[in-house]
Amino acid sequence: MRIILLGPPGGGKGTQGDLIAKRTGFPRISTGDLLRRAVRDRTPLGIEADAAMKQGALVRDEIVLGLVRERIGQPDCRGGYVLDGYPRNLSQARDVQALDPDRPEIVIAIDVAEDEIVRRLAARRSCPACEAVYNLEARKPVREGACDACGGALFRREDDEPEVIRERLRVYAEETEPLLAYYREKGNLRRVGGGNGMEATFAVIRGILDPPLGAAAKAGMQA
Ligand code: AMP
Repeated sequence: MRIILLGPPGGGKGTQGDLIAKRTGFPRISTGDLLRRAVRDRTPLGIEADAAMKQGALVRDEIVLGLVRERIGQPDCRGGYVLDGYPRNLSQARDVQALDPDRPEIVIAIDVAEDEIVRRLAARRSCPACEAVYNLEARKPVREGACDACGGALFRREDDEPEVIRERLRVYAEETEPLLAYYREKGNLRRVGGGNGMEATFAVIRGILDPPLGAAAKAGMQA
């Protein structure tokens, strides 16, 4: 199964994606993480992506498609995978369909109000070393400024600064939101309110995913 998480930046895709990964055993694939890794390693692709990411713009479709193709071709994706942050526009939605056409797909759109998003992103801190994410209000690290998982120093992502957040929200509304209509028409869109906290949101998502996953397991089919 391909599980696609849609939603604005700061809407909880990463957190819910991790919970889904734990429950299903499918890896979570975050194109933002893949791109940040390429930027950190100064690969040619990362050097090109860096400028767009700093501005809150989308990275070129071909670059992201290359990363996704490579990642979903790995053996741990054979049974299924969770896409977090991909697709982000209509051409990427067509790309992923063409890349892996026969896989059953469920699209979960997480809805969060804009003022809540801005608040969450302002409080978000990330560990560049191990990619763990914290929130200074809702999910604090045990030791201030340090990652619980690896002890690395926590930073505010450059693109979580207020003026870049505004641009990312504009890009989301313009390029990514049309995907809601696209997937609604395909018949596989499920919308979930994301404003009630991590556990409540996941309870709803579990209710959506468990029946099809259970049915696939029973039939001995590829999920
Ligand atoms: P994220 O971590 O998902 O918020 O992504 C951070 C940044 O990476 C975005 O603002 C974009 O610049 C870039 N990015 C991530 N995923 C994509 C994608 N599917 N297409 C284009 N750019 C992306």
